[in-house]
Amino acid sequence: MANVPEMFGSMVFNDKKMQERLPLTTYKALKKTVKNGEPLDISVANAVANAMKEWAVEMGCTHYTHWFQPMTGVTAEKHDSFIYPVDDGQIIMEFSGKELIKGEPDASSFPSGGIRATFEARGYTTWDPTSPAFIRDKTLYIPTAFCSYTGEILDKKTPLLRSMERLSSVAVKVLHLLGKTDVTRVTTTVGPEQEYFLIDKKVYDKRPDLIFTGRTLFGAPAPKGQELEDHYFGSIKTRVAAFMNDLDEELWKLGIFAKTKHNEVAPSQHELAPIFETSNIATDHNELTMEVMKKTAEKHGLVCLLHEKPFAGVNGSGKHNNWSISTNTGENLLDPGKNPENNLQFQLFLAAIVKAVHEYQDLLRITVASAGNDHRLGANEAPPAIISMYLGDDLGAMVDSIINGGEYKSALKKEMLTGVDVLPDFKKDTSDRNRTSPFAFTGNKFEFRALGSSLNIGCPNYMLNTMVAEELSQFYDELVNADDLETALKALVKKTLTEHQNIIFNGDNYSDEWVKEAEKRGLCNYRSVPEAFEHYIDRKNIDLFVKNGILNEPEILARYEIELEQYAKEIRIEALTMVEMAEKNILPSVISFVKELADTAIAKKTLSATYSVYTETTLIETLSSECEAFAKKTEELKRAVENAVNYRSDSLTLAKYYRNTVFALMNELRETGDSMEKKTSAKYWPYPSYGEILFGV
Ligand code: ADP
Ligand code: MG
Repeated sequence: MANVPEMFGSMVFNDKKMQERLPLTTYKALKKTVKNGEPLDISVANAVANAMKEWAVEMGCTHYTHWFQPMTGVTAEKHDSFIYPVDDGQIIMEFSGKELIKGEPDASSFPSGGIRATFEARGYTTWDPTSPAFIRDKTLYIPTAFCSYTGEILDKKTPLLRSMERLSSVAVKVLHLLGKTDVTRVTTTVGPEQEYFLIDKKVYDKRPDLIFTGRTLFGAPAPKGQELEDHYFGSIKTRVAAFMNDLDEELWKLGIFAKTKHNEVAPSQHELAPIFETSNIATDHNELTMEVMKKTAEKHGLVCLLHEKPFAGVNGSGKHNNWSISTNTGENLLDPGKNPENNLQFQLFLAAIVKAVHEYQDLLRITVASAGNDHRLGANEAPPAIISMYLGDDLGAMVDSIINGGEYKSALKKEMLTGVDVLPDFKKDTSDRNRTSPFAFTGNKFEFRALGSSLNIGCPNYMLNTMVAEELSQFYDELVNADDLETALKALVKKTLTEHQNIIFNGDNYSDEWVKEAEKRGLCNYRSVPEAFEHYIDRKNIDLFVKNGILNEPEILARYEIELEQYAKEIRIEALTMVEMAEKNILPSVISFVKELADTAIAKKTLSATYSVYTETTLIETLSSECEAFAKKTEELKRAVENAVNYRSDSLTLAKYYRNTVFALMNELRETGDSMEKKTSAKYWPYPSYGEILFGV
């Protein structure tokens, strides 16, 4: 085993390397840019570019790439070599400040939601000096933001950076008002817990549905699923452990704080949690983590599935977005401290978050909406589509006492007695775990649990930052001219919590009663992408982004278009894949099996008319009728996809058509297919079964 501290960050142009390789003045100028968001001088950029290149070349690199996060949902890169021609056909390795700062990928093939016609295809990538450059596969990767020639934002990173700035400036003003004048900057921090499936490459290669869509579109349940609860935190299999060790090393080299790994609830499902970082770097690192997971799996003859619901009937995969806000003086603003009942600053930030989550619950739901996540949220599994907040017994009691008056008794101070002398007693966490809540307070941070496993966390985080910034700025306006700040603050907290307490729910989020209760409380319950995205462009949401300088109206409309189009495309690909699997393999296989049954029956009868052919004929009968239904449904699904052209008037109509017609037919087709799989001989069934896939590693 390598020396971990030495290996950590070895592939990153991190602070230590900058200090070693940059002239002190350059280093200081760069730090200023990163810390205070000040503009960067070209001479500084030149010096940084040169130092980066020297290091990269020493490490064996020949190329660099601007690495960005367009609206496709995956990262993008275009590689340029460092070569630069000099006299007599010779070259040198060169990298200028201009090349570091600005790249010009052709933007025409990235989704723009109609912002940019293809004839004005130019796009720019701009260096993000707040996220360190790193090396992968002999290439220097430079994290960048991506925008169009005319300046419209085309990526997921820029709004995040803007939201962090915005939240910082507002929070600093509020803190100054409260007397914390030494605070000059506030940052949001994120620790994303990443779930994934790991399956054998050999079975994966035999499943076109996994290859084309990332999930199984057919598949009867295996005799065993997750009901024994023996996989969660279970001992890790040798092959998986080898993958995980390799993954940890790769991530550590890239400066990613991979910390916790364990088996998850479903068979073949696992989780990796890093230590938290500032939102921007956490986002880059989560994107990298997902990429490295996939590549590392390949090396082990495995495939890493990041789809939200690869398998029906067992849990899908999500991502828990642990989120907090802290100051440059080292204070976590979401830490309630020992006496939250007297901690007015904490109460104010808590009230801002409660109000934000209540007023923009639709945006939080929208930001996690995707075709894949529709199988989880609002279906029969982990967090419901209804956004609510869990505060736990302790904070819940405090909020109660603020709203209703009356004494607050902390649950916090209770010790946990293990009752075994050799085991140490320990303090209970401030909040118990409520695994069913989509937005839960967990001691000194909130855990937003509704994210799908493949989601770029930039989006939920810029929404979160922006909505909290908005509430804090309203609070600031209300408090800034108060005669008696303490009285005004207490009144504001009480008023806010009273008006927005409907978003707080500490019970079981999976229960039917909650669905009814939430409806009574007027909370939204959007079950699918089209239902949710319809509200993305509600006036109040557009106003939020525009007012806070995160996105302008055309950019918001573009995002709305892109997401709905993306949804329609994904469902279309799934439907076409199903049709192909049905026609090319499932139907012919079942027919062959039926033929074998018929041949057997005839052969038996030829031998002797007294032989029973009951088994054969019963199976022939059921399979034949199922086959017929299956063929008809396949035809229907094919026609439904063709008919989609009639619903292209606007992207919402189209998305709704795909949801209500195409997706509904897919579910019906699958049901018949799975029923046939159960009855068809394994010798004939063309695809590896759930049992083979889920228990094969
Ligand atoms: P829990 O047991 O509540 O899940 P952990 O300590 O295991 O909490 O942390 C879960 C995740 O939350 C980790 O990724 C961790 O780094 C992250 N986390 C902890 N503190 C913070 C914070 N202040 N801001 C953001 N994320 C945090
Ligand atoms: Mg957790």
